[in-house]
Amino acid sequence: MDRQAIIQWLRETEPNRLSELWRLADDLRRREVGEQVHLRGLIEFSNYCRRNCGYCGLRIDNREVERYRMCESEILGCAEQARSFGYGTVVLQSGEDCGFAADWLARIIERIKQTTGLAVTLSLGERAEADLRTWKAAGADRYLLRFETANPQLFEHIHPPVGGEKSDRIQLLRTLRELGYEIGSGVMIGIPGQTFEDLAVDLETFRELNLDMIGVGPFIPHQATPLHAEFMAAQDRPEQVPNTEAMTYKAIALARLLCPRANIPSTTALATLNKATGRELGLQRGANVVMPNLTPPEYRAMYEIYPAKACIAETAEQCHGCMKRRILQLGRKLGVGPGHSPNFRAPHLAEQSTASAWPPA
Ligand code: SAM
Ligand code: SF4
Repeated sequence: MDRQAIIQWLRETEPNRLSELWRLADDLRRREVGEQVHLRGLIEFSNYCRRNCGYCGLRIDNREVERYRMCESEILGCAEQARSFGYGTVVLQSGEDCGFAADWLARIIERIKQTTGLAVTLSLGERAEADLRTWKAAGADRYLLRFETANPQLFEHIHPPVGGEKSDRIQLLRTLRELGYEIGSGVMIGIPGQTFEDLAVDLETFRELNLDMIGVGPFIPHQATPLHAEFMAAQDRPEQVPNTEAMTYKAIALARLLCPRANIPSTTALATLNKATGRELGLQRGANVVMPNLTPPEYRAMYEIYPAKACIAETAEQCHGCMKRRILQLGRKLGVGPGHSPNFRAPHLAEQSTASAWPPA
């Protein structure tokens, strides 16, 4: 699919044509990654952040946020809960928190692997290569780092450098791949200043990077960030991508068509726009992963990257029950095992494609 065709789909509004897009994505999802929906237990273990991203409520300049960092036993408790719920993976997510030592997290990763055997995904922002190496050696399996937009000017505007050092998330993804991580990335849909051409390039970049995991969700403006006012000002520009539910489904479906074997979550941001059926519709339009929240209730509200986040008041048990019911009601199966991306070839498996073993019998 070339760029013009991607743009045409992004601009499509005719219901029959869109039904065709949803069908193509759903058929390909079924054929390439099967009927299982993998559950990744999300642990938002710290909201400290040294960055000042223009879009995110956790930015350092937002003094309204009460900051927290969970201790080792709290994190291990959440991982144990993930195991007891039958999840195959835990995702350790935080702001770009420089307040813990790499060895502290390495020990936690080791303990999770020893006590639960779960796959471990990290989502910690931009980190030094030496730390990424340490965590890989401790047993981490995957790393999520959204490049947010492939437009370098727009990226620098919304994601200012720290200490004069420019970010290059796309290069960091390549480094992560070399270190042996399964790599995941993604973008927000409807960032002020994002054009249809930009979003088409983002989708092409997913294909170029040969991503194992792709997360796309709507941009949701947060009052305490500079992009809130920019969002309001951008709405009547004809080239501005809207941050709508429909546009997010199109991006999920196109990501599936461009990267057939990637693991693609139906995201919480999407569920925030449509709490009743957003998750289900994402799963029916190309997605095959959900990320139930395991963060203890006392911390959830403090991890407010955007307002009115879905599942903010629920406990881990409630999220688990709700996700399970929704998956089964769709006629899909609960994921079994770690749910590695069939796209991923670990360096030590170079001769032997993990993809050929997918979907499991
Ligand atoms: N700090 C790490 C990082 O930046 O990669 C991980 C945590 S960060 C909160 C995870 C993701 O949240 C970001 O990559 C971004 O895409 C998303 N996010 C932040 N603010 C958002 C907003 N206002 N609307 C939608 N998504 C947002
Ligand atoms: Fe920090 Fe990540 Fe939020 Fe940026 S998106 S402010 S790096 S938590």
